[in-house]
Amino acid sequence: MNGCSRLAQSPSYDDTNAAIILRIAVPSPVRRCFDYRPPAGVPTAYLRPGVRVQVPFRGGTRIGIILAILDNSEISPDRLKSVLKVLDDNPILPPDIIDLLKWSSRYYQHPIGEVFRAILPSVLRRGRETTSREEWCWQLTELGAGVSPSDLPRAPRQAAILTTLQAHPRGVIANACAAIKPGWRPVLRTLEKKGWVRRVDPDPLQATTTKAAWQLEPAQDAAIKAIERVGKRFCTILLEGVTGSGKTEVYLELIDRTVRAGRQALILIPEIGLTPQMVARFRQRLSTPVQVFHSGLSDQERLRTWTMAREGRVSVIIGTRSAAFIPLSKPGLFIVDEEHDISYKQQDGFRYSARDIIVMRGRQLGVPVVLGSATPSLESLNNAVHGRYRQLLLPKRAGGASLPAVDIIDVRGRAFEASLSDSLLHAIEDRLARGEQSLLFINRRGYAPLMICHECGWIAACAHCDARMVYHRSGECLRCHHCGSERAVPNHCGACDNTDLRVLGTGTQRVVKALSKHFTGARIGRIDRDIVAHRGALEAALSKIHTGETHILVGTQMLTKGHHFPAVTLVGILDADQGLFGSDFRSTERLGQLIVQVAGRAGRGARRGTVLIQTHHPTHPLLQLLITEGYRNFAKTLLAERAEAGLPPYAALALVRAETIAREATLEFLAEAKQQAQARLVDGVALFGPVPAPMERRGGRYRAHLLVHAQQRGLLHRLLHAWIPQLETLKSGRRVRWSVDVDPQVML
Ligand code: ADP
Ligand code: ZN
Ligand code: ZN
Repeated sequence: MNGCSRLAQSPSYDDTNAAIILRIAVPSPVRRCFDYRPPAGVPTAYLRPGVRVQVPFRGGTRIGIILAILDNSEISPDRLKSVLKVLDDNPILPPDIIDLLKWSSRYYQHPIGEVFRAILPSVLRRGRETTSREEWCWQLTELGAGVSPSDLPRAPRQAAILTTLQAHPRGVIANACAAIKPGWRPVLRTLEKKGWVRRVDPDPLQATTTKAAWQLEPAQDAAIKAIERVGKRFCTILLEGVTGSGKTEVYLELIDRTVRAGRQALILIPEIGLTPQMVARFRQRLSTPVQVFHSGLSDQERLRTWTMAREGRVSVIIGTRSAAFIPLSKPGLFIVDEEHDISYKQQDGFRYSARDIIVMRGRQLGVPVVLGSATPSLESLNNAVHGRYRQLLLPKRAGGASLPAVDIIDVRGRAFEASLSDSLLHAIEDRLARGEQSLLFINRRGYAPLMICHECGWIAACAHCDARMVYHRSGECLRCHHCGSERAVPNHCGACDNTDLRVLGTGTQRVVKALSKHFTGARIGRIDRDIVAHRGALEAALSKIHTGETHILVGTQMLTKGHHFPAVTLVGILDADQGLFGSDFRSTERLGQLIVQVAGRAGRGARRGTVLIQTHHPTHPLLQLLITEGYRNFAKTLLAERAEAGLPPYAALALVRAETIAREATLEFLAEAKQQAQARLVDGVALFGPVPAPMERRGGRYRAHLLVHAQQRGLLHRLLHAWIPQLETLKSGRRVRWSVDVDPQVML
């Protein structure tokens, strides 16, 4: 650290670096690198790619990263400024990550300095120390091994930690205890004082996996063997396994083997906060330290995982999207679970797809990549069809569980309260009588999505967005789900002053209320983003389901993500129509994935599950296809439709978005942008727009976009490379906020 001052006194000091030029990624919206002269007195050996430097920039200073050492620059030497300070003795990023980031910057058309800034843990971004606090491993002493947790009825936390440590004779990392009991640190210290536990150095390569109690299914075994045969080279495997088929078991086996071979495994999952179970399961089964990496951690915790991974001191890392860029010293396996999940695509700033980055990384490093899902994206299925990915199937549920039966409830003309048909209510009643759990899915939080004047039809709208305010019963307020603004519930109409205001439509809160009225005494839980906003609330809600305390659970798509609820035998999908008639060309794909994933929560235990889908369009061909023939054939049909329409994956898209508070400015910029692009247009590439975004005003800004459609990916990138840097020269661009989204997932 502070290499500069220390090195300046070193005897090897000389000025031999005077002739070199440093090419540096500096955070700035400008799509290029910046050249600087090295600081005087720092030996050339210390100026390496991946080292952070502080540089003068636009009247201030910024932290940049050295990308290359050159012997000349296009800029005349007397105009070059000097680096102020070298911040690291050793590169904080290895060459492979630097290459990956350079590639990402080109592919996603995002400024290189911003790409580096986006992926660095914030502590590093601000130029701070790279060292992180040590993580210890804990182990039972002989004395402690002689204690039975059941002897400690008055100290449940001590007992819980002893139980965990007993399962791991070679020790577990303290974080694993955190997964069991909050407030574990003082508990461990108490146990240490009693002489029952001791600290040991973590050995990242020890792998004493606790074996599962069952035999692998033949399909699981075959998949593991097939992936093992790939060996240490790049290959992307699409592991398509129905919900509950034991994909996670396959991952665990592969990870175990990777770790035993002295290598690291990186596992991406969609949203870690939503799946504490998944992390706990990994920690329970793998006794090698498992580190997590996601936005819910403190800066220090993130830095610790990052540093440990880079130094090879941890061999299993589970993380969300941003973990795709964690440096690894001994990469051996990449896994992307639920690869179809939209959360892998960053929706602002550096708009990368973590799944695609991982595939690129595997190729670059010669490491196998496993993409797992019960409902693979059409992109990945198409890659499998063309032999770019190898496809492996797990066609049955593991352990003899069967897939749920799926039925449609035609709600046309039926009595319907809070989106609950009488058939669905009867089905729930049956489950209650049998002591089984039900799970209801509705894709809307809040109480009701619409507040309307019964006299004149006025609708409460957001002042900053082209959107309606959602009525929330908790807190008695109206909230905009797009910009987050909130206000008190009005007591009279905004147009005619009448006081007869009513709410229309159904959100999770309303379903809960209707259910509690209908089934007095039933315990009803709710999981949605409003609940999850409270720390620990999700864990509490999930644990109530597992203990059987909750009889009926109502939730949004958060429920779809990988949860395992063995006692749930009924799943109700309250409204399939929204997805059937969505405006985005991906809506039907997403609806299919969602139905299959929610349905997949049913009947994972011994009893078979039932799924009931409410719709006004019971004969919709796609819905029928999904139900009668399953996701694979549904996806095949969708692929044929996409091919016909020339849409991804049979075409490549990019969106140039612009937004500003002045409506005309966005359209003017995009019109000029289009002219620039047209001058470079070749056959096979077309421009659509500019058009206002489907929700034109959001958060007080007007939004519009220009769509670039290319029949082949290569054509798209050729145009973008030639054009986007030119976009920066447009004067009209300075008045708007604009961005490029390559492979957009949401066309808003
Ligand atoms: P997926 O990730 O495909 O949804 P999981 O790996 O979570 O599936 O497995 C679903 C359930 O089946 C889990 O409870 C798991 O413990 C269990 N399971 C997995 N493999 C087997 C097996 N070979 N025999 C019995 N049960 C299994
Ligand atoms: Zn709003
Ligand atoms: Zn009115």
